[in-house]
Amino acid sequence: MKSVSGGRGIPVIAVVGGGPAGVMAAIAALEESKRVIVYNKNPWPGKKISAIPPEEFIISEKISPAKMALQFGEKAKFVNPILKAFTYSDLMSFFKRIGFDIKADLNGHFRANGYPIGDIIDAVRARARELGVEYMKSARITDIVVERKRVSGVVVNGSKRPAAAVILATGSISSPKYGATADGYEIARRLGHNIREIRPAMVDLIPDGRYNQILAGGKYSNIKVTIQIDGKSIYSEISEIKFTQSSISGPAILNHSAEILEKLPNSKVELNLDLLPQMDKEQLNEQFAQALVKRDIVSLGEFLAGQIGEKMTQAIIKFTHIDPTKSLMRISNLERKALILAIKDFHIGIKGAKPFNYARGVKGGIDTDFIDPETGQSKIIKGLYFAGAVMDVLGPWGGYNMQFAFSSGYVAGKAAAAFVE
Ligand SMILES: Cc1cc2nc3c(=O)[nH]c(=O)nc-3n(C[C@H](O)[C@H](O)[C@H](O)COP(=O)(O)OP(=O)(O)OC[C@H]3O[C@@H](n4cnc5c(N)ncnc54)[C@H](O)[C@@H]3O)c2cc1C
Repeated sequence: MKSVSGGRGIPVIAVVGGGPAGVMAAIAALEESKRVIVYNKNPWPGKKISAIPPEEFIISEKISPAKMALQFGEKAKFVNPILKAFTYSDLMSFFKRIGFDIKADLNGHFRANGYPIGDIIDAVRARARELGVEYMKSARITDIVVERKRVSGVVVNGSKRPAAAVILATGSISSPKYGATADGYEIARRLGHNIREIRPAMVDLIPDGRYNQILAGGKYSNIKVTIQIDGKSIYSEISEIKFTQSSISGPAILNHSAEILEKLPNSKVELNLDLLPQMDKEQLNEQFAQALVKRDIVSLGEFLAGQIGEKMTQAIIKFTHIDPTKSLMRISNLERKALILAIKDFHIGIKGAKPFNYARGVKGGIDTDFIDPETGQSKIIKGLYFAGAVMDVLGPWGGYNMQFAFSSGYVAGKAAAAFVE
């Protein structure tokens, strides 16, 4: 790679942050033949995303930009032009050009398709290198220098490095163990931007503990999850759900964790699980009756395990206190009713959430009212651009946030390139 001091006289675009947003911003500007220096606190680009477990990793969603924008709720209007400027299909074409043919799965998620995430990151990095990026590793930017409301440089290790445009792509504060910082918020605040309160989001919840041991390791793909706050249902969805020794997660839970955290500890939060949403109570009763007629299932435990799996069976048994070895023939009507009720409306109390270190995103960040969505440029400082999760933008679980990071990086990179013309 070239040294930072090389090519004097050519205006520099400084990209602060080497996550998906920063790297895509750099590539977009380099493609316009600009001089780009990436300053990254981490030793290598994409360190944070390389820590995402491969089975969780979703790069984007096969959905039109307009529909994708709607998934960002109140930010739909802001993200729409950004997602339109660089769509999932632009992103997949980019990956194809660098050697990764990524196809959507049946649910429309673009996953890594068996490619090691590290290989994808290496190829993106190689593309940036090929275009001539200057990369400053382990370089933490502490400030952006502004003169007469226009950027003129960045501060690294106490000294100023000139820059005609700066793209701030420092990400959110989620997962500090992988290099996340609050620097972007602080720098933007000092320059006059409003910062919306930062709260952890998309984080596993901590159940009250009654069923932790029993359910740990259980993963279910077809459960109706209803979130109740102080007895009121706020959301209901058929979703995947996963249990560990100490936590519970899954798309429906992750998407509402921020809302739930706002209510705790003052409100009572419960997850009501319908373990067999495809059957109503009558149909489930019919299943019991049929099992009795067939007589090939002897015990209650065996019958329940066939319907809801071993771990959930143990949880239902613990809840109803009915002996699982009891023959189905000997289950009373009252017991049958209690079992059906437990299967259709199984309550898990929630007492908290895992700490920030485990959050996949945050609510809050740089107020988008201060940012032009067509370019990513600050409305108050010329030559300052924002990209990715440092902004107060959060999409739902899936590939929405990564796509937004790439799209906003692309938009900021192209706009900064035009700015330094
Ligand atoms: C566990 C986990 C799982 C996730 N899974 C998914 C998923 O499957 N799909 C999805 O769409 N999203 C997922 N996300 C969210 C996704 O990772 C983010 O939306 C995305 O990484 C945001 O990209 P970014 O470039 O804006 O920020 P980041 O990826 O956070 O990159 C920011 C970079 O800036 C650097 N930096 C910070 N401060 C400074 C500074 N002062 N100077 C220089 N550099 C600095 C950081 O070290 C980092 O390298 C997940 C997140 C986590 C934590």
